[in-house]
Amino acid sequence: MKSLPSPYILVGDEIFPHHEAKVSASDRGFLYGDGIYETLRIYQGIPFEMEEHLGRLRESAEALYMVLPWSDEELARKIQRTLEANETQEGRLRITVTRGEGDVRARPEDLRNPVIVIRAQPYEPPAEDFYLRGVSVEISERIRNLPDALDPAIKSGNLLNNLLARFEMRNEGTFETLLPNARGELTEGSLSNLFLVDGKGRLVTPSADSGILLGITRKWVIDLARTSGLEVLEKAVLAEELYEAQEAFITASTLEILPVTRVEDKPIGNGVAGSVTLALLETYRQGVRDYIESFDWPETHA
Ligand code: PMP
Repeated sequence: MKSLPSPYILVGDEIFPHHEAKVSASDRGFLYGDGIYETLRIYQGIPFEMEEHLGRLRESAEALYMVLPWSDEELARKIQRTLEANETQEGRLRITVTRGEGDVRARPEDLRNPVIVIRAQPYEPPAEDFYLRGVSVEISERIRNLPDALDPAIKSGNLLNNLLARFEMRNEGTFETLLPNARGELTEGSLSNLFLVDGKGRLVTPSADSGILLGITRKWVIDLARTSGLEVLEKAVLAEELYEAQEAFITASTLEILPVTRVEDKPIGNGVAGSVTLALLETYRQGVRDYIESFDWPETHA
């Protein structure tokens, strides 16, 4: 899958051609990974679940003692300008906010000049075949960050925990690697959340206190499942439960709902994408179409 660079990138309040978009070499995002981000999927030029992503951006900021100086309307306007400059239709958009420049010993209240960078790039989703055949995952030996150390619920720009798990993937054909926590329970994938359908037909997903990012797609799936009468359990999930599951899938804004049909060489259920998974995927895609249709950019009072 080839990602093309975005021709235009927003830095602060200005749009620059890709190679002219620059951030200071003293930026704390670069020096210490001191920043946060969001990745949104763009469908037909519309940022799916924008409000939810902006909400999570604020939660991440708060957890890191950062204050974002922009209103949601201002952020939406920056997103809109970036999408227009790049003429993005089907794409992914990344909002990065760092704490900006400042000494390593500085207090957060003295660092009140965050830097924002927004880039949009064309996006080729995984082959449609993956959604029918499913993908293979493995279980990492790398432990997910402890919530008391660096809470995985914070979408911080420091991705090393996830990247190490990816670098350590053992098998060629693995699409995603699942990280356990220090108690040996499964948490999430390096870039996605995990769900399974158990022997009783219930939807099961690692709970917040397992130490996970509270995915926007995860929330969407849980809400949808509950409203359609499917029982959802958010709980500690062990690897054995995945091996014994009838179905499994991973979720992320850029993946939607992707069936998981193998853990290494062991099939899950009967080894094909399950009916609950495929029904959720279909409803999700309908939800995307409904969202696009009713979406309006917020009014700006600038
Ligand atoms: N967990 C991790 C570690 C991720 O990087 C992502 C991708 N943002 C997700 C879960 C899925 O989150 P979302 O559904 O909000 O894209």
